[in-house]
Amino acid sequence: MAAPYGLRKIEAQLLSEGFDVSTVAPNHLKKYVGEAKVLGIHAMDPFGLGPASSTLASILKKEPFLAQYFRALLDSPEIRKAKKRGLRIIVGGPGAWQFRYRPKFVEEYGIDCIIEGEAEKVIGKTARAALNGETLPQYYEVGDKETPSLEEIPDIVGPSVNGLIEVGRGCCRGCEFCSVTLRPLRWYPYEKILREIDVNIKIGNINWSCLHAEDVMLYGSKNTLPNDEKLIKLHELVVKKCEGICWSHCSLAAIASKPKLFSKIAEIILQKQPWWGAEIGIETGSPDLVKKVMPAKAHPFKPEEWPEVVRTGMSLMQDNQLIPACTLIVGVPEETEDDLIKTIQLMDDLRDVRSLIVPLFFVPMGRLK
Ligand code: SF4
Repeated sequence: MAAPYGLRKIEAQLLSEGFDVSTVAPNHLKKYVGEAKVLGIHAMDPFGLGPASSTLASILKKEPFLAQYFRALLDSPEIRKAKKRGLRIIVGGPGAWQFRYRPKFVEEYGIDCIIEGEAEKVIGKTARAALNGETLPQYYEVGDKETPSLEEIPDIVGPSVNGLIEVGRGCCRGCEFCSVTLRPLRWYPYEKILREIDVNIKIGNINWSCLHAEDVMLYGSKNTLPNDEKLIKLHELVVKKCEGICWSHCSLAAIASKPKLFSKIAEIILQKQPWWGAEIGIETGSPDLVKKVMPAKAHPFKPEEWPEVVRTGMSLMQDNQLIPACTLIVGVPEETEDDLIKTIQLMDDLRDVRSLIVPLFFVPMGRLK
């Protein structure tokens, strides 16, 4: 069974510390939760407060499906029964921040601990404390000192959803609304990436990889300029192993800064597939707004050049068969009418580019929480 990549990391960490762990899909929980002492839940968007769910929910005026599903999971008779006999519940994952806005839910469903951030160095001690019946902190925000170094991040031991394989963590662009940028930048060595791809191929029979980083173009780089040698080698190695590749995210600025390198990478990827995809943040067409809340978004270009960076990056993608799913952020606190007009003008310029561009409402995260 493929499981979310982040959950696979937690599973690997707990196994390495000697815990007896089973990773189970929610619809199979019934078979396992009866004997479990601690239930760990990976929450992506538990209350539908993430940008995509909250935007759609406010348009459709309905509770997001993800929120309904999460509540139904905790309402299930097997979890209620297990809770009565003393099951401890620990929640983590990209949506952990949302529990701070739902304290009543946390209390009502008896969630014992919510871990926010990269949990490799804290999950063991938290699980041990839960097993020993000790009091757990209701919210645990993983601090800088507890953020794992590369050597402290274990390899996954089971297959990941969509063949997702992390190639690095962190981002150096420093956007005000983003929590990822608050953590250090680390790139995995090739060997680690290839070992994890092997897990997907051998155990999960998944022979494609979605390379994951906040900006795959910056693999191996310490700043906002792509590292040609490392990026090319990474793709040559991965293409040799896999039948297909996609990227989770990349930046327009990195693509626009090295058009020849980008074409070279496309050439490597397109040996085995006709196109590939990635998620890309355009966010705004306004240089003023970029300057205010995303000061390094355009780097190595200047914030004033942002619309041109977007046009250049998007046409390079069009020419090299990368079909992007792009986001715009609407409603940033400092956004003005003029900023919005500039975004609309930029969208007009991109009308003929093969892409999906989705406007999402602003959600306060990172330093704007
Ligand atoms: S570029 Fe993306 S990942 Fe990096 S800080 Fe900005 S929003 Fe976060």
